[in-house]
Amino acid sequence: MLVILKKTHISNAIIGWHKDADISEIVLFLKSNGAEVYLWLPVFSDLEALADFLPIIGHDGKPLKIKYDMGTGENFAFCCPANIENTDAFIEVYENHYRLDFYDGVFLDKIRFPSFIGGVESVLGCYCDYCRSNYDPSEESQLQTADSINPLGIISYKDLCYDMDSAFKKLFEYKCSAVFNSLEHLCSYFRGKGLKIGLDLFAPFLAYFVGQDYHRLVPLADFIKPMFYAMTNAPAGLPFEIDMYASAFDDNIENAQKRKSSFLNCIDYGNDFINREIAGIRKIINDNGLETRLYAGIEVNYNERFAPVTEEYIRESLSKTKEADGVVMSWDLNTTPDPHIDCFLEEIIHIV
Ligand SMILES: [Zn+2]
Repeated sequence: MLVILKKTHISNAIIGWHKDADISEIVLFLKSNGAEVYLWLPVFSDLEALADFLPIIGHDGKPLKIKYDMGTGENFAFCCPANIENTDAFIEVYENHYRLDFYDGVFLDKIRFPSFIGGVESVLGCYCDYCRSNYDPSEESQLQTADSINPLGIISYKDLCYDMDSAFKKLFEYKCSAVFNSLEHLCSYFRGKGLKIGLDLFAPFLAYFVGQDYHRLVPLADFIKPMFYAMTNAPAGLPFEIDMYASAFDDNIENAQKRKSSFLNCIDYGNDFINREIAGIRKIINDNGLETRLYAGIEVNYNERFAPVTEEYIRESLSKTKEADGVVMSWDLNTTPDPHIDCFLEEIIHIV
């Protein structure tokens, strides 16, 4: 941290979220150096030890099980983001375990439905009573995959919106409304406490499938952090989530490859793709006269298996995200090697 502050200004710091860790000293230090400090909080996942949340329910009427373990303590089991009881339970956790007056804002993470990580089943739900009463169950029978290579019937991707099969569109629209309603409720609560809001979001082209609609969420935040993790081989990572989508619909490897090519073709996933995603978010900000800042999340950490980041990759990521208002050094500074920090600083000082 000191190394960074010696060379550049940190406008925002995201810190947290272990409830027993005493981070007061570092928070005060950051604030005294002019940084706004946001408490990093997962919302619809990872808090099950602190309160009872109502889980996402699978087609069989049982809590959705996602068999994925990164070995980091994150289990990617989600509670239902639609249900108001869960947003209230989250607020209670926040009030019981964290000091309210200590931070400039909150950074809300895991604000979504599960991705294709648990197969197609993890995206088709939720089948809890609340969702069943708010999403017409008769729509469910319309969710047929007529084309096994383009199972969602995607026609185009433009202005961060998909044109696709109408039944799937209805499902994703329901999810986007549900996440938006919950977030609107949470943001109004935190604003009432005088806190600013940062949102951790999937890259726009993946966000729609987990219920994150940039058109609705960007206006809620002081800043957003789209995760442009082009190397992360874990949830939210672009290659990982694309592969999860491609392999979710059957076990046929050839089909998965075809599905992946078809999807990448449809969204025109090429070298300037991240730039176009940023331009799409910028358009939302400008068209609506918003002051929301756009900080691109890029990996600078190192994890041999999940994020084998190199200095070259950091330079490349920074060059692709130049049009953002800034970047968030992700996943976290504790697992970022010093040469990566040096390389990052050299590059941003050069860019500035
Ligand atoms: Zn539900």
